[in-house]
Amino acid sequence: MKKHNFYAGPSIMPQYTVDKTAEAIKELDNTGLSVMEISHRSKEFDQIIKEAQQLFKDLLDIPDGYHVLLLGGGASTQFLMVPYNFFNKKAAYLNTGNWAKKAIKEAKFFGDVDVVASSEDKNFTYIPRDYKVPGDADYFHITSNNTIYGTELKEDPDVNMPLIADMSSDILSRPVDVSKYDLIYGGAQKNLAPAGVTFVIVKEEALGKVDRPIPTMMDYQTHIKKESLFNTPPVVPIYSALQTLKWVKQQGGVEGMNKINNEKARMMYEEIERNKLFTPNIEHEQDRSIMNVTFVMNDDYKDLEKEFLDFATERGMIGIKGHRSVGGFRASLYNALPKESVQALIDVMQEFENKKA
Ligand SMILES: *Cc1c(COP(=O)(O)O)cnc(C)c1O
Repeated sequence: MKKHNFYAGPSIMPQYTVDKTAEAIKELDNTGLSVMEISHRSKEFDQIIKEAQQLFKDLLDIPDGYHVLLLGGGASTQFLMVPYNFFNKKAAYLNTGNWAKKAIKEAKFFGDVDVVASSEDKNFTYIPRDYKVPGDADYFHITSNNTIYGTELKEDPDVNMPLIADMSSDILSRPVDVSKYDLIYGGAQKNLAPAGVTFVIVKEEALGKVDRPIPTMMDYQTHIKKESLFNTPPVVPIYSALQTLKWVKQQGGVEGMNKINNEKARMMYEEIERNKLFTPNIEHEQDRSIMNVTFVMNDDYKDLEKEFLDFATERGMIGIKGHRSVGGFRASLYNALPKESVQALIDVMQEFENKKA
C-alpha cells in the first residue's frame, strides 16, 4: 500500500533527493567511490558543498556580505552558538513554543533574557503580535514556524536591532527577506536533508561584537574562515541537501514552493473546518502554519481519537499523531509532500466522517 508520510521530522524528502543520494551512496559520479567514502577535502566534495551554498544563496536571494554555513550539531547547538556570538548584556526572545523555550533556556546561561511576549497562556495556539522589543537588547530571537503547535510567523518582523530566527521547519517553503536578519539557522531534517546537517545564514559584519573569548567550534568566524570545513562536516547529508536545493529550483524556487504549499495548506484547513468531526487547533488564520497543520477531534467525538488514528494508519497515513503536548493530530505538509498525499488524507477524513457523523 502507498504510504503518505506526514512525519514532523525527520520527514519526507523529495524522491529526487532519495534517488540521487541512493545512487551516490553506491557510487558518486563515476569516481569509483561512495559519497560516504570521500574526503571532505577532496575536489569532489569541495564542488558539492560550494554548489549547495551557492544554490542556497540563489534560492533565497541572499545579499552580499552573508555566508551560508553547513555545520553539524543541529538547531539545538545554535541555541547556544547564537548567544556565544551575539550576547553582551541582554537578549530579547519571543516565546512561541517548545523550541523557543529551549533557545531561551540556553541564552539564560549568558545573562539577562527579556521574553518580550509569550503565547504559553493558551498552550502556544497563537503568535503574539502586540509587543515591544527593548531598545537595549543585543538581538531579538524568533522561531518562525512552531513545528509542534502549528503556528507560523509568516512576515519578517521589522526591528531596530539584529534579528535572529530559527527557521528549522519552514526554510525554503516561502520567500524570506534575508536582509532583515543578521542570522537564520535550522536543522535540515524537515525541509532540506537527512538529519545531521545544520544551515546557518549569517551576516559577517554582525559578528565580532562581543567581548568574551569564544571557544573555537562555537565561533561563527571559525566556520566562515574555514568555509564550513574547520572540522569534518556531515558529508552525506550535505550531498542530499544539494539535491533538495536543485529540486526546489526545479519547482520554481521558493516562490513556486510557496504557491504549492499554500494550496496544500488551504485544502487541509478547509477540510478540517468543513468536516463535522474535526476542528483546527489554531483559531486565527493568520497564525496557522502552512507546514504543520494541527487539529483535534470536536468535543462530541473526542473518544474517537484513537479509532481515527488507527483508521488512518490502516489506510497508509503515517505520522499524523499530534505531539504529546498538544494531542490530536498533526499533518506536516513539508515541501516534499505531494498534493496527492494531502488529498489522500482528506479522503480518509471524509470516509471516517461518513461512518461516524
Ligand atoms: C526540529 C526543530 C528543532 C530541533 O532541531 P535539532 O536539529 O533536532 O536540534 C529546533 N527548532 C525547530 C523550530 C524545530 O522544528
